[in-house]
Amino acid sequence: MNDVMQSLIDIVGERGVSNAAEELWFYSRDPGVLEPHKPDYVVAPKTTEQVQKIVQLANREKIPVVPMGNGMALTGLVIPLKGGIVLDMKRMNKILEVNEKARYAVVEGGTSQGVLKAYLQENYPHLRHSIPDAPSTTTIAANVALHGQGRLTNQYGFNSDMVTGMEIVLPTGEICLIGSPSLGPYWFSKGPTLPDLSGLFLGWLGTTGIITKLGLKLFPNKKIREVEMFVTDKAELVPEIFYKLTHLEILEDVNAWFQPKPLIFKGNFHITIYFTGDAEEEIEFKRRMIWDALQEFIDSKDGGFMNVQYTKDMLLEMPQRGIANFADVPKGGGFEYSGPITIIEHFPQYAAKVIELAKKYDVLYASSARLICGGHCMMFSISFAFNRNNPAMMKRVKEALDEATAFALEMGAVPWKPNFMEQQMTMKKIHPATLKLMQMIKRNLDPQGIMNPGNWEVI
Ligand SMILES: Cc1cc2nc3c(=O)[nH]c(=O)nc-3n(C[C@H](O)[C@H](O)[C@H](O)COP(=O)(O)OP(=O)(O)OC[C@H]3O[C@@H](n4cnc5c(N)ncnc54)[C@H](O)[C@@H]3O)c2cc1C
Repeated sequence: MNDVMQSLIDIVGERGVSNAAEELWFYSRDPGVLEPHKPDYVVAPKTTEQVQKIVQLANREKIPVVPMGNGMALTGLVIPLKGGIVLDMKRMNKILEVNEKARYAVVEGGTSQGVLKAYLQENYPHLRHSIPDAPSTTTIAANVALHGQGRLTNQYGFNSDMVTGMEIVLPTGEICLIGSPSLGPYWFSKGPTLPDLSGLFLGWLGTTGIITKLGLKLFPNKKIREVEMFVTDKAELVPEIFYKLTHLEILEDVNAWFQPKPLIFKGNFHITIYFTGDAEEEIEFKRRMIWDALQEFIDSKDGGFMNVQYTKDMLLEMPQRGIANFADVPKGGGFEYSGPITIIEHFPQYAAKVIELAKKYDVLYASSARLICGGHCMMFSISFAFNRNNPAMMKRVKEALDEATAFALEMGAVPWKPNFMEQQMTMKKIHPATLKLMQMIKRNLDPQGIMNPGNWEVI
C-alpha cells in the first residue's frame, strides 16, 4: 500500500476509501458521451474536517481533487481528467436545520434532492424547494455549483440564486463561511449587504472549492398544483407566447418542448404551464388568466390548449421521470444535452438549428426551453439520444453537440454546465479582461491547480 492510500485511510477509515479496479472503473465515467478517465483513489468523507484533511494532503502531494455529487451532470464534469482523488460527497447527507419562519434549510454538501424533498414532505409539508428534473439522487450542492434550474426557476431564478450561505473548504484547505453565517448563527443570506463572495464558487464547477454546507431558500408549498398545455406549430410565435404568459406573474414553471417521437408530437411546440394555489377558486381564476392571455392565438387558429387529463399525473411529477425515457428511444439508454442560456426571442433559431443538426448527424432529438425568472432568459436544452453500444452514434452526438455550442456562442448565449471543450470555446470568446479576472481568482484560490483540473483551466 502506498503512502497516499494509507494517509487517506487514516483520514476517513478503510470503508471510506478505495483504489480497487472495479471502483475506479465506475468513477472514471459519466452517462454522457465523453471518454472515461480513471482516478487513482475514490474517497467518501463524512465531515468537513475530513474534507479539509484530504485537501491538505492533496496540496502536499499535488494530487487533483474532483468533488462529486451524483455524477449526473452528463457533460463529464466529474470525470477525473487528470486522475487523482474523486471526492464522493454522498456520505455528507444530513439536513442540519430548517428555519420555518425564515424559510430556509441548511444541508450538508452531499445531500440529495430526494432526501430534502422527503424530509420537507414529512416534517414541513407547507414548505418546498426548487426541485430540478434530474434524478432524485443528484445533490443540491452540485446543482448550485453548476447554476441548475428547478421547478421554481420561473418564479425565483436559478437554483444558485436560492443559496443563503455556504461553508467551503478552499483549495488550500481553509474552512470558510460565506454570507450571514460568517457573522452569526443564521443562514438567511449569501451576500447582501456584504460583498457577495458566493460568486467565487457558484458556476465554477468545483474548481474553486468544495461546498460542505449550504443554506437554501424554501418556498410555500401550495395545496394544489395544476398544469395546462398549449400547442402551436409555429416556432416563431413561441417567444410571444412566453411573453404573454410571464406578464401574468403567476406561473411556477413554463417549458416549451418539441420532439419528433412519438409521431403524435412531431411538428408541434408544446408549452407546459405550471401554476399553484391554495383553493379551487384561486386555481380556476389563474386558469382563466392563462386562457385569456393566449386567446388571441386560438382566435387566429395558430394554437390551442391540449387535454392533459391522461398525462397530468406524469406532468406533475417532481422530478419528471418521463424525461429520462427519451434516452431509451434509440435503445441503449444514453442522452446528453447542451443547454445554452439565452434570450427568449431566439427560440425559433434554436429550434431550427436542433432539427438541422439532428438531420445532418442522423441522431434523435428532444428539445425544451425552460423560462428563467419571469422570462429574462431561458435554458434551451439541445438533447440528443444515443445507444451506448454504438460508438459511431455516440461520436455523431458529440459532433452535433459541439456544433450546437459553437452556434450558441455565435448567437450570444452563455453555455450551461459546459464540458471542458465547451469551456475552452467559451474562454476563447470571452472578453480578455473577464478572462484575466477569472485567472486572478483561480490563481489565488487554487495556486497548485489541484481542483477539478481540466475544467475552467484559465491558468
Ligand atoms: C434526466 C435528467 C434530467 C435533468 N434535469 C435537470 C433539471 O431540470 N435542472 C438541472 O439543473 N439539471 C438537470 N439535469 C442535469 C444534472 O443531473 C443536474 O444538474 C444535477 O443537479 C447534477 O447533480 P449531481 O450531483 O449529479 O452533480 P455532479 O455531476 O456530481 O457534479 C456537477 C458539478 O458540481 C461539482 N460539485 C459536485 N459536488 C460539489 C460540492 N459539494 N462542492 C463543489 N462542487 C461540487 C462537480 O465537480 C461538477 O463540476 C438533468 C439530468 C438528467 C439525467
